[in-house]
Amino acid sequence: MPVLPVLKLGSVGPYVRRLQINLNGLSLNYNNFTINGVFDIKTRNVVQNFQDRFELKRDGIVGPNTWSVLIENVKLVQRQLTLRGYNSGYADGWIGPITINAVKRFQRDNKLYQDGIVNPRTRQRLFNPSPKINFEYMPSSNSIKSLNPRVAVLAQKFLDLTIANNLDVRITNAFRSWNEQDRLYAQGRTMPGSLVTNAQGGDSYHNWGLAFDASPYENGKISNDIEKYKKMGQLGQQVGLEWGGTFISIVDLPHFQYTFGLNTWSLLNGIRPPS
Ligand SMILES: [Zn+2]
Repeated sequence: MPVLPVLKLGSVGPYVRRLQINLNGLSLNYNNFTINGVFDIKTRNVVQNFQDRFELKRDGIVGPNTWSVLIENVKLVQRQLTLRGYNSGYADGWIGPITINAVKRFQRDNKLYQDGIVNPRTRQRLFNPSPKINFEYMPSSNSIKSLNPRVAVLAQKFLDLTIANNLDVRITNAFRSWNEQDRLYAQGRTMPGSLVTNAQGGDSYHNWGLAFDASPYENGKISNDIEKYKKMGQLGQQVGLEWGGTFISIVDLPHFQYTFGLNTWSLLNGIRPPS
C-alpha cells in the first residue's frame, strides 16, 4: 500500500474524499457530513468516534494507525460480501461502486433498506447468517435477567452495594431492543426532538445485554442530585463496571457497561463474549 497522507481538520483533496466515502459506507455518517473532499469539523467528529471504537488516540487526525484500522475494516466487509456470494471485487479497503453495489444486492436479498451502506443491521446479517441467539429481535427490558449472565452478576453486586450505602438505586433500562435504539437514533434527525444518541440499532452495548442504565431515587422519583450520581458511579466502578460518567465523548451519568473488551462492530461481526 502506498504511503497515505496524514489528514486532519482543514485537509482537502481526493484522499479526504476517499476517507469520507469509507466512513459513510461503514455507516458512520451520523452527523450528516458532506462527501466533498473537505476535512471539516463534522468529518473530524466522525473520525474521533471511529478512533473511540478501536481505542485509538482520539486526536481526530488520520495518520498511519487510523488509516490502517479503517482500511482493514473495509477489507473485512469486502471479503465477507464475496464469501457470501456478493462479489465485491478485489478487497482493497476502499469503498467504491463495486462494493456499494454488492451491499445493495445483499440488502435487497435480506429485505433491508437498499442504501448500500453497511449499517449495523446489514453488518449483523452479513456476518451472522444463522445466529444462535438473535439479539436483533429481543424485546427491551429493565430486568437484570435480560443482561449477559456475567454482567447480570456485576449489576446485582452493584445494587447490593448501593443498598449497603443507603442509596435507593434502580435500573431504568437493561436490554434495549434494536427497534427502540433506532427510534432513539431517529430522534433529532428524521423525527422531532433533540439528539440523544449517535448509535443505531445494534450499535449500542444496550443492544447486546452488556449495558444498563440506573438512577438514584429520592422519595420515589429519579433524583437530580449530582452527588448521588457520583456516589452511584463510584460503587459501580468498585464492582468492575465502566461508568458513563467517566466517558470523554458524551458524559452519560446513568450508564454502566461491561464490554469484555469488545466493540459493537466486533459483536456485529459475530464475535461473542466468553460464556
Ligand atoms: Zn446507557
